[in-house]
Amino acid sequence: METRKVEELIRKLLKRGFKRDSVKDSCAACGVSAVHVYKLLGRTGGRDVKWCMACHKISSWKRSASDDLYEDTEFDLEKFLA
Ligand SMILES: [Zn+2]
Repeated sequence: METRKVEELIRKLLKRGFKRDSVKDSCAACGVSAVHVYKLLGRTGGRDVKWCMACHKISSWKRSASDDLYEDTEFDLEKFLA
């Protein structure tokens, strides 16, 4: 992914109210500790977006009001932010 594209999508995520976690997870796909975690929390749940800056694998998890996480396997970041 181009740096400009990455920066644009991150800007949109932040504009939507996502906050970046300071922790970097290790990536299940490439093994590098380069996964940025963006979190959006609302009153009735929220969403986590995990984005590996090394291989650009993106996954998203829905958080229920009771704090359970479910992977959103249909998630497409560009569509989500369009
Ligand atoms: Zn990766």
